[in-house]
Amino acid sequence: MCRHDPPCPPAHAPDRDAAAVTARRDAQGWALLCNGIVRFDVMSISGTSRCL
Ligand SMILES: [Zn+2]
Repeated sequence: MCRHDPPCPPAHAPDRDAAAVTARRDAQGWALLCNGIVRFDVMSISGTSRCL
């Protein structure tokens, strides 16, 4: 699935957060990475909207 060069680290890799961002929802404070990881931006969700 990953078409990046170099390829993104897989979901189980220690550096999985280094994968490319394929979609992001800044308003909700998260980003979907190329390897399927959903990375939450702690800075963005430190406010009131933590309802998932
Ligand atoms: Zn990738």
